[in-house]
Amino acid sequence: MIPGVGLLAREACEVLHAPTEYPDPVAIRHDQGIVLRSYPFGEADRVVVLLSPNRGKIRTVAKGIRKTKSRFGGRLEPFTHVDLVLYEGRNLDTITQVSVIEHFPNMRLDLDAVVAAGTMVEAADAVAQEDQSSLRLFLLLQRGLRALEAGKKGSDLITSFLLKLADVVGVAPALSNCASCGRHEHLDRFSFSGGGVLCDRCGSEGSVRLRPGLTEHLAALAAADFSALPESNLNIAGEAMGVARRFVEFHLDRKLASLAVMD
Ligand SMILES: [Zn+2]
Repeated sequence: MIPGVGLLAREACEVLHAPTEYPDPVAIRHDQGIVLRSYPFGEADRVVVLLSPNRGKIRTVAKGIRKTKSRFGGRLEPFTHVDLVLYEGRNLDTITQVSVIEHFPNMRLDLDAVVAAGTMVEAADAVAQEDQSSLRLFLLLQRGLRALEAGKKGSDLITSFLLKLADVVGVAPALSNCASCGRHEHLDRFSFSGGGVLCDRCGSEGSVRLRPGLTEHLAALAAADFSALPESNLNIAGEAMGVARRFVEFHLDRKLASLAVMD
């Protein structure tokens, strides 16, 4: 038997014998994604929201997942990177098979890391669009979770993540030159509506004064790889995260709830 032909025939059989609740024609597709969150749906199901590199935010149904003996087990928990086989539905696709690509087990044992992962996932969820390729956003979230899995932690990692997220969605703040006049000197103010740091000449009402070293620290965090973040400075780390967070919140026009627990 020619393997490819056999496979096609078997897939055709599966399509023919698909449960009747799926309207014809039944289309099966493969996808993958990182689980962002899920919520109850009907009596025993959950809607699982994932970030797919190919399709952006996808909403899928995991049938029977709230039953004790669910065949999905814990494979659809938040943060898990999974491979999926889906029945395409009119509104929501139904998960028929799921296998774990990356589970991040070490990160899940550390409460601080879980909180940080929650922030990353919430921010990615806030900017992800449906039916839109989002490879850069997906890779950013994957790198962030891998950094946590590798034991990286602290507010600098979150700050770096949020600044990179702003870049991915096209609103990266100016950090090495004045957002208003382009000067490179005396960048000691920050304007959330003005798009980044301002020099002492352009500093306007509504901009905040940054303490010495903060502008350089933010610029370094925006540029650095998660595995090689600049030396942490406890005096300014909290303030740096506050600026990055407020900047992202300003441009998303919404609060990041998971960061509120760190206040
Ligand atoms: Zn200026």
